[in-house]
Order: sequence, then structure tokens, then C-alpha cells
Amino acid sequence: MTSTPARLLIIGPQGSGKGTQGARIAQALGIPAVSTGDVFRANVSEGTELGLKVKAIIDAGDLVPDELTSEIVRDRLTQTDAAAGFLLDGYPRNLGQVRDLDAFLESRGEPLTAVIELTVPREESISRLSVRAAEQGRADDNAESIAKRLSIYESETAPILDVYRDRGIVDGVDGVGSFDEITERIAAALEARGITA
Ligand code: AMP
Repeated sequence: MTSTPARLLIIGPQGSGKGTQGARIAQALGIPAVSTGDVFRANVSEGTELGLKVKAIIDAGDLVPDELTSEIVRDRLTQTDAAAGFLLDGYPRNLGQVRDLDAFLESRGEPLTAVIELTVPREESISRLSVRAAEQGRADDNAESIAKRLSIYESETAPILDVYRDRGIVDGVDGVGSFDEITERIAAALEARGITA
């Protein structure tokens, strides 16, 4: 069986573990994990021009403007290590970004091949985020910002799943369990689509 190219998106509420699971799956498949949140945080901590521009937005839990975010992703996906496949984490995050990404991927004839939806009950996400706040000290893991990010997820990000569901590429994966169990569930869903290492 020829394997399907791994052009993936992992999506789930803050605290669903998508960053951890996305990194594990990308490593197993030998493709880069592209996390817009990580790109923004790295720029903030390095004090780059981009970092200075987005720091206040991120700390407040708001979304960085689509134009800027989409340009960063296009640049990243054009790099050679993403030619054989990639895993997007945290982008697209609203319908405008879906349109931007579609335009870019369609121009290359390389649409997304699977979307992993990691599902976690809201109370579980909130308690995981509080643990992360204590461990990592992320400036945006305060109560106000967490509430805003979860509400943006529900109002702006969850609707993008309908678009991808219509294309038949969404796999829902239960995000409650051990790291290994969840990684195995995702790997099994991808394998069923012919996406293997
Ligand atoms: P994350 O690590 O994915 O939770 O992202 C942390 C923060 O970075 C978000 O709360 C936003 O402020 C910003 N961010 C990350 N990805 C995006 C995106 N696709 N669009 C707009 N803002 C984003």
C-alpha cells in the first residue's frame, strides 16, 4: 500500500495536550511540527520585532491578526523540511485562517490529509492549564487569559472542524488517558488513512 502524505492538523482546546501529542506524532512520522504558539513565544523571549508586536496580544489571550499569522505559516511550510509533510498545531484557528491555508495549499496541489481532533472535557483542560501555569510560568496561563482562550476556541476555532468534517478528513480522538495511550490512538487513526512512518 502506498502511504498517504502526512499533511496534518491537530486541533483541540487549550490544555488538551495537542502540543505534546503533536510533537510526538510528528517525530514518529519524521515530519516537522509547526506550532504557531511556539513560534510566537520564541520571538517574544528573543525580543524580536515580531515578538514585540505580539507580546501584549498573547498575554491577553487574544488572537494575533490572521494576515501576520498566515504569512508566518506560509514561510515555514515553504522550507525544505516540510516538503514531504508537516503537522500544524494551533493553526488555522478561525475561518479566515482556513481560507488562507486553503489558498496556499491548493496553489501547491497539496491539501491537508487528516485533522486530529483531540477531545477533553472543559474541567479537565482547565485543571491541566493550572498545572502548566505552576510548572512553566507561561504569562498567558492566568485565569482571565485562560477563560478568554477557551471561549475563543469554542466560538472561533471549533467551527473550523465543520469545514474539515465536510471534507471527510476529521478523526476525533479521546484526549483523556496516559501520553502513550493517546499517542497510540492518534497513530491508529492515521494508519487507518494510510498515514504511516
Ligand atoms: P497556543 O500555544 O497555540 O495556545 O498559542 C498561544 C497564543 O499564541 C494564543 O493564545 C494566541 O495569542 C497566539 N496564537 C497562536 N496561534 C495562533 C493563530 N493561529 N492565530 C492567532 N493567534 C495565535
